[in-house]
Amino acid sequence: MDNNCIFCKIVRGDFNTEFVYENEHLVVFKDINPKAPVHLLVVPRVHVESLNELEDKNLMAELLQGVKDVTKKIGLKSYKTLINTGKEAGQEVFHLHVHILGEIK
Ligand code: 5GP
Ligand code: ZN
Repeated sequence: MDNNCIFCKIVRGDFNTEFVYENEHLVVFKDINPKAPVHLLVVPRVHVESLNELEDKNLMAELLQGVKDVTKKIGLKSYKTLINTGKEAGQEVFHLHVHILGEIK
């Protein structure tokens, strides 16, 4: 938990953010500034700055399993996933997250 991290605060429930999906490893919520009709963020409960700092292989697997589980739950069959790593690549929030971008047809 990083007290200055917006995603840690969301995970903790500080803003009563609705979780589309959650389990012991991660939460999933809607992006506040959606770039697609469905734009979700898969966010680990633990604070890891970016993919570069992620050492736990099990958590890597859990994040992708989370993508599968939430897309199945909402009936999103076709989607893109994105992980921005580092400022130059467009990372704005330094708490690892996987974007899911798609459209339910
Ligand atoms: P990044 O550019 O770091 O890969 O993506 C950060 C994403 O988090 C952006 O798409 C941005 O819209 C989203 N975001 C930033 N702050 C908040 C917030 O407080 N709530 C939600 N739901 N999304 C946020
Ligand atoms: Zn954090």
